Amino acid sequence: MIPHTFPTWQSQNWQDELKQLIRDPKELFEYLQLPLTLLPNALRASDDFQLRVPRPYAARINKGNINDPLLRQVLPTGEELIAQPGYSHDPLGEAQNNPVPGVIHKYHGRLLLIVSGSCVINCRYCFRRHFPYSDNKPSRQEWQQALDYIRADSSLTEIILSGGDPLSSSNAQLQWLIDAIGAIQHVERLRIHTRLPIMIPSRIDATFLQMLQQTHLQTIMVIHCNHPQEIDTDVNLALRQLQQAGVTLLNQAVLLKGINDTNEVQIKLSQSLFRVGVLPYYLHLLDRVSGAHHFGVEEDTAKNLLVYLRNRLPGYLVPKLVREEAGAPSKTPIAT
Ligand SMILES: *Cc1c(COP(=O)(O)O)cnc(C)c1O
Ligand code: SF4
Repeated sequence: MIPHTFPTWQSQNWQDELKQLIRDPKELFEYLQLPLTLLPNALRASDDFQLRVPRPYAARINKGNINDPLLRQVLPTGEELIAQPGYSHDPLGEAQNNPVPGVIHKYHGRLLLIVSGSCVINCRYCFRRHFPYSDNKPSRQEWQQALDYIRADSSLTEIILSGGDPLSSSNAQLQWLIDAIGAIQHVERLRIHTRLPIMIPSRIDATFLQMLQQTHLQTIMVIHCNHPQEIDTDVNLALRQLQQAGVTLLNQAVLLKGINDTNEVQIKLSQSLFRVGVLPYYLHLLDRVSGAHHFGVEEDTAKNLLVYLRNRLPGYLVPKLVREEAGAPSKTPIAT
């Protein structure tokens, strides 16, 4: 046997991982040895919002544990099918801030580009689970419209690549876009919101790292990590390489009932993130999107949690507790 000098994921191409997502609930149930009594509802909920789980992520789920915090984020359940008052299809009113295809401009000085219509994973609590992505998958020509929009507004110093997941686009597409953004004089910073370094760490490949190293834009990556168990050796390595490429790493998490709503998990999340070079940024209260009500955490519980974190952790390891409100000029901080 030749000893492995490189982690195994480097031999696995991320494009292949994308093609090999687990999409069939039955396959997930078999792989994770889950009770088949839950399968019929999983199939029904998956009809509404498809199951999608990358294999490197599935490998971090404990087999046979229906309450595994990673599993709960991806497993379609019967609870999603129950309508709840106060939960809607577009809770953030994003459809109103969509001036040209692919652009969401809500806040001063920064703007969000929907680079890719799809996500590699379908988180069950996703606030964009009903977003009309098919109307927001810009062609090159439409990208010109988005770029013109940025060019025309000199207050825009930061461009945020979002989605879906922007890193499900090819390196060639990203290179084109980053070059085009970099050529606009008033833009200083490029921010990428992505869950891919967690889901499929091999996505952080040499070509992508080079692209980030070469752009003159200051680059920030906001990874979406909700639980310390999501961070394994491969994730660690991908994050280290991003740091070496000069990228500032931040995390935003969603506070999810039964997944990360305890003092212990949140303390461990902050500490585990910092160990791999990531600072906590936002902790979001769940957006009231229909189908996700069972993940909601009471505001009072969230406040108590934050007070606990503040009393236990250095200030830089305490995330900002926020909620997103339609029409507000920024994320809304929750006073504690
Ligand atoms: C969250 C968000 C941003 C970024 O807000 P920050 O407070 O700068 O992190 C920008 N645009 C939209 C539409 C957003 O939802
Ligand atoms: S990664 Fe984000 S955008 Fe994608 S499904 Fe999950 S919550 Fe939604």
